[in-house]
Amino acid sequence: MSAQIIDGKAFAAALRGRIATKVAALRDAGGRAPGLAVVLVGEDPASAVYVRNKHKATIAAGMASFEYRLPADTEQDELLTLVASLNADPAVDGILVQLPLPPQIDADTVLMAIDPDKDVDGFHPVNAGRLATGLPGFVPCTPYGCVMLLKDQLGDLAGLDAVVIGRSNIVGKPMAQLLIAESCTVTVAHSKTRDLPGIVHRADIVVAAVGRPEMIKGEWIKPGAVVIDVGINRTDDGLIGDVDFNGAASVASAITPVPGGVGPMTIACLLRNTLISASRRQGVALDLAEL
Ligand code: NAD
Repeated sequence: MSAQIIDGKAFAAALRGRIATKVAALRDAGGRAPGLAVVLVGEDPASAVYVRNKHKATIAAGMASFEYRLPADTEQDELLTLVASLNADPAVDGILVQLPLPPQIDADTVLMAIDPDKDVDGFHPVNAGRLATGLPGFVPCTPYGCVMLLKDQLGDLAGLDAVVIGRSNIVGKPMAQLLIAESCTVTVAHSKTRDLPGIVHRADIVVAAVGRPEMIKGEWIKPGAVVIDVGINRTDDGLIGDVDFNGAASVASAITPVPGGVGPMTIACLLRNTLISASRRQGVALDLAEL
């Protein structure tokens, strides 16, 4: 193995520490603790773990955590009523409705109901539009975490050839927008892409967000490329990424492991968005460049 292993767990812990310091500064300036409301509908075990981890990290950063656990048979209107009350609650700076939702609830309708200025997941079409046009808003947490890791590894990304594999609204598309904003030359590959190995092989940066265990082969990777593996695949052998880790690590210059790479960055960036929301809503300027 020649690649450096990118330690997302350590990077995220340091970021959460910097966020906690800023939260304390906000309180010292007479401000209110940032408040994050997380809504879980049903009993999906993976979602329950995510929500528990978000709650713990929110408290540890000095923020207020409001948790809502609704039964799996909750009607869409009940959830929309809760979202409306959270939109109106001045103590709530960020609202997150954990996906997936049960079949009787339309996720798009619920996400559209969240106030875009409290949409710390960055999934509302208004925030997708802001990202696409370079306006301040909320950027989805997982792709933002990937960009932080890339900049930490490579410094300036301008002019680099980046390939994003996956075009979902929550990872692939915002990832591509963020890399365009960093002046990369971006290719988005997806399920209909022809010659994926050839496209991956020309990239300086490879971001895999597919959801297929070890689909991206080591021999596709250009020597010296940086590989970011967003994939989380639950298999009998535990959590596996979308990239053949051992193969890619023998040619890449740096690579994120699964677990311990991109995953921990998501919650840290969620807290970052919640802090940004609180500072905007309270009119307290914070130096976000330090985050
Ligand atoms: P998704 O299913 O919405 O999208 C998958 C994308 O992969 C699609 O755009 C599809 O076109 C593309 N794809 C499918 N088969 C392909 C193929 N053979 N070749 C090329 N492209 C192909 O998934 P998602 O929500 O974007 O998540 C992707 C992965 O990232 C999943 O494993 C998910 O668990 C993981 N994920 C991790 C985090 C985190 O680390 N915190 C957050 C979100 C998603």
